[in-house]
Order: sequence, then structure tokens, then C-alpha cells
Amino acid sequence: MSLAHLAARATFAAFVAAVNVPASLDAQALPIPTDNPRLRAALDMIKAQEAWTVSQQISLCEIAAPPYKEAARAAEYRRRLQALGITSVHVDSVGNVIAERRGTGNGPTVLIEGHLDTVFPEGTDVRVKRNGTVLAGPGIGDDCRGLAVVLSVARAFQRANVQTAGTVYFVGDVGEEGQGNLRGTRYLFANSLKGRIDYFISVDGIGLDLKHHGVGSKRYRVTYKGPGGHSYGAFGIPNPIHALGRAIAQIADVQVPASPKTTFNVGVISGGTSVNSIPFSGVMDVDMRSETADALDAVDKQVLKILTSALDAENDRWTRQTGARAERAKLSLVIDTIGIRPANSTQTDSSRIVATALAAGRVLGFSPKSGASSTDANVPMSLGVPAITIDGGGVGAGAHSLGETYEDGPTGWLGPQWAALIVAALAGVR
Ligand SMILES: [Zn+2]
Repeated sequence: MSLAHLAARATFAAFVAAVNVPASLDAQALPIPTDNPRLRAALDMIKAQEAWTVSQQISLCEIAAPPYKEAARAAEYRRRLQALGITSVHVDSVGNVIAERRGTGNGPTVLIEGHLDTVFPEGTDVRVKRNGTVLAGPGIGDDCRGLAVVLSVARAFQRANVQTAGTVYFVGDVGEEGQGNLRGTRYLFANSLKGRIDYFISVDGIGLDLKHHGVGSKRYRVTYKGPGGHSYGAFGIPNPIHALGRAIAQIADVQVPASPKTTFNVGVISGGTSVNSIPFSGVMDVDMRSETADALDAVDKQVLKILTSALDAENDRWTRQTGARAERAKLSLVIDTIGIRPANSTQTDSSRIVATALAAGRVLGFSPKSGASSTDANVPMSLGVPAITIDGGGVGAGAHSLGETYEDGPTGWLGPQWAALIVAALAGVR
């Protein structure tokens, strides 16, 4: 897709006239409500207010939101949704901000959300720097863009008085990233909005593509433990960090399929207190992911086997040499599950929510690609609730790094326009 080419097309009305959607591709898609005057006004408003949207993105991002510490950003997000005139806005007991915009009839309920949390710990400098047209700051794309897109859609619906048949929930949720383990979205489906969501849209990503498959993941914190001792005086007993090293060396050689894409990673290691002590623990965090549950299971089984065999190898190496002394100092292994995300690949391009989103993109003049990722949408997908994750427009790089960037470019507004059009199509407009 050429951004410059899209920029040349001035208004939503012009898009509609220019695009011809082949009917066969959209057999399952809901009608895209291109002729609704209030929705057209909202879409034009989204384009016109893009500078406002980016300013929301920056100012929200400058409120730190480390894992489990999203409350300050949540309070501000709530305030901003209330300021748009949405009457029912509340924070639920895990910290999700939920704005309810009532539908006029009995249409399906649509939830659109961005996630409040970041991967960055407390004390991270979250100021956003401007370098020409490029914005740089931790979280500026992931997921301050998503939060801003949700606000932009809510604002345009309010101002243009868009009337949806189904109720629309505009949500900023907690706990999407690693440690959070999707706890915000899990809570929405288990408690706050249990049984009330017909379609779920997560805005999480830069560009104009969508994700309709949930990449599954399993994460372990692995600890090898022993009594430890002096590196010289107690020499001859099993060493937890050596066991850890044995495990990592074997994990590094695990073979995984390229398709379905399956991955593994030792992301964090720790343990030990000084160079001349046999440590009493060696710890690592391991992450495994796959597009399918079977392939995830397979890599999981391999890794679990390795963890035990590394333990045995380290214990045996010393009991063979120092006998009872090593026997008394044998290591143990503790595996804590720190995250499970279900894999889901049952949706296809012709599933209604996916087809509708693809058709909405084509109406706006671009052709989104569908793929797999691991986001909040894994939760509804695993429950059989139609769900997608869409990009929020713009271009960016370096998600989860301190040098993360976002550039709105000439057509950043297409992200929120696309989001608005999908929500309107799914909920129905009057
Ligand atoms: Zn994200």
C-alpha cells in the first residue's frame, strides 16, 4: 500500500466512490454502512481531529503505567472518556476503564479497547521526544496508539451523534503485557462484562493489518535450588547455576517448526550472590509460543524434559564424584507457570468479524493482511467470542524497547477511521 497514494484521496465520500469490493470476497461480511450520513461525518471528523488524537497518544504515554501499576493512567483515561460526554464510565475492580455507549436497539454489543499497561518498570523515563515527525518514547506505539484510537472513535461518535443499534464499550484494559497475563481482559469476560460481548476488537499495533489468530504461549519461571556454599571449601556439590546453564544449552538446540510458527526464548536469568560462592539458586524465565495448540504442546514437552534432565545431569555429575556429600546437597527444581495464553486458529478470513474488517479496510482504500499474534484478543477467541486485533495506523518500530517510535505520517487517521467503520458495521448504525 502506498501512503502517498492514499493521502491524495481527500474524504471518506471519495473513498466510497472509488472502491469496488468484489462481492464473492465478502460473502460473510456485514454490510459496511457507507451511506449513513452521521457515520460519514464521524469519519471525516476523525481525519480532521488526527492532531488531537496524536496529542492524546503523547500525553497518555507520559503517565507511567508499569505492570500492575496502571492506576494513574487509568484515572486519566476515565476522565477523558467522561469529558467526551459518555455518561457511563467506570473503573472495575481490576482497574479496567469501561465506557458504555448505549445502542438504540437490540444490535450486537461491540467492545473496542486499547491496553493501559506497558512492559516498562517504575522509574523509566516516559517522556516522549519529537524528532522531526517521529515520536520516540516507551509505549508510544504499544499501546498508547491503541488508547488514542479508541478515544478518537468515541469522540467522533459522540460529536457526530452516531447511533449504533448495539451498545459499544470503549475500554482501556490492564495487564495485557507479559506479567499481566491478560488479566484485564480475562476479568472483563469472567466478571465485569460477562456474557455481554458479541464482538471484540483490540487496537494494538502499528500499520493497517489485522490479527485473527491467537498465538498461544506458555511461560515458566524455572528455579534450580540447593544449599550453596563456599566455592573452594564446599566444592564438589551440585551448582544451581551450572544446572541452569545445562538447561539453557539444551533449550538453545530445540528444533521447532517454521509453520505453524513456533518459538522459544530464555528471556531473564538470575541467581548467585558472589563470585566465590556456590549459589543457592539459579533462575530463568522461559517463553514458548505457537500458532497452534499442538505445536505449543510439543515444544512445551521438550522444554520440560530438558529442565529435568539438566537437574539430573548436574546432580549425577557430583554424586558420582563426591558421593554422599553431593547426595546431601542435591538440587531441586521448581517450575512456576507465570503465563498461559490459549492458542486459537479457528477464525478464517471469511469469519464474519474478520471479513467485515477486511471489507472496511477496502472501503477506505487499503487491503489489510490477516495474521497471528498474542494479544488481549486471545481471551475472547478462546471463549469462542469473535475477536480481532487491528493496527492503529501510522508507522513505528521498536515495541517493548526504550527507543520505541511512532510516526503518524500523512495517513495516520486511517487507523481510527478503520476502527470506527468496523465498530459501526458490527454494531449496526441507524
Ligand atoms: Zn500491546
